[in-house]
Amino acid sequence: MAKEELECSFCGRKKPETNLLIAGLDAHICDRCIEQAHGIVLEESKQHDGSDLSSELKLRKPQQIKAFLDEYIIGQDMTKKVMSVAVYNHYKRLLQPTTKDDIEIQKSNIIMVGQTGTGKTLVAKTISKMLNVPLAVVDATVLTEAGYVGEDVESILTRLLQAADYNLEKAEKGIVFIDEIDKIARKSDNPSITRDVSGEGVQQALLKLLEGTIVNVPPKGGRKHPDQKFIEVNTENILFIAGGAFDGIERHISKRLNMQAVGYSASKSEDVVDHNHLLQYIVPKDLKDFGLIPEIIGRLPVLTYMDPLDAQALRAILTEPKNAIIKQYQKLFSMDDVDFTITDGALDYIVNKAIEYKLGARGLRSLCEEILTDAMFELPSSNEKKLNVTKSYVEDKLVKTTLKKLKAVS
Ligand code: ADP
Repeated sequence: MAKEELECSFCGRKKPETNLLIAGLDAHICDRCIEQAHGIVLEESKQHDGSDLSSELKLRKPQQIKAFLDEYIIGQDMTKKVMSVAVYNHYKRLLQPTTKDDIEIQKSNIIMVGQTGTGKTLVAKTISKMLNVPLAVVDATVLTEAGYVGEDVESILTRLLQAADYNLEKAEKGIVFIDEIDKIARKSDNPSITRDVSGEGVQQALLKLLEGTIVNVPPKGGRKHPDQKFIEVNTENILFIAGGAFDGIERHISKRLNMQAVGYSASKSEDVVDHNHLLQYIVPKDLKDFGLIPEIIGRLPVLTYMDPLDAQALRAILTEPKNAIIKQYQKLFSMDDVDFTITDGALDYIVNKAIEYKLGARGLRSLCEEILTDAMFELPSSNEKKLNVTKSYVEDKLVKTTLKKLKAVS
């Protein structure tokens, strides 16, 4: 074949009509066809992205999900187990082919009850990390403060879209963590809450979202605006996880059980104060007595509780999780070639301070910051390449700080 007769084997363009003609074994391809083919490849891989989720999910059985959670979350075994099953079932539901039998697997939205700082958000975050699905963390109290409730509930989905980089398909398989759900309880059953009316309104507005519906979502959030284009988000496959401290719910539990707290908790080996331990007996009715409307409770069918964190748990949180606080500092210091070590005595001292000042797990970080800020300021410019933090080092640093300040942080 003469040279000038070369042509693209795909589109038939002659060589002079192309910018580039690449030769293969028995064929040629021009730049335009390469581009087009590249487009197709991208498109195809996008579609695979969607099914990636499915294949990944197929691989994770509940025990594997729990094992993953174990790497990041200390204790909370009951919640981790319940969550593993709920998440597994939820994504099983997603994978189920649309069959004609009448069995429709219902959503396994989850509600977690437990004191603040016991790891509720962490559980939601870890699950989204494991599944590689987007996560939106929203605060239910924000929803109560708005005038036009319905709209603000939709803003939850704006957050999810943002977390998914506006990839609708991903957002529709994402996770929404609604924190402080207890704060939108009805006032009448819960004298500690000062605001009212809006609470039940928000609960009503949440109902549709939780059960699965198509919502017009303003992509940038905020108020609905006539000119703003909406994105239609189907919430059917979004997993909702709600969390709340439900302060005082033990009263309802104990009333229901009509028993003395001590009798039950005595059978457990854990060193937990009795009234905290009551949470393990929680049933949906207690949530109703607290002020959640039955419809909401019905749409959050998986109920679980978080144990309060004792000294042992706090100590473990400092050093054991995959991205434990102490490991993070070690990494930070090692970037300046500083070998950072901390003694057991120092760790125990930090834990005791966190307990003494009721700072909880969140306070561990602020305590560490207070203790290590001087070192992090000074060591990068010094020749000192070793930092061993002892109990007296910690005492010395903490004396200088106002623990009131730490309280405010946590
Ligand atoms: P909650 O949502 O219950 O208020 P968070 O999940 O926000 O609590 O916890 C605050 C921080 O405390 C987390 O980022 C984590 O560092 C730490 N933490 C709390 N509970 C645990 C736990 N069980 N295991 C490991 N870390 C925890």
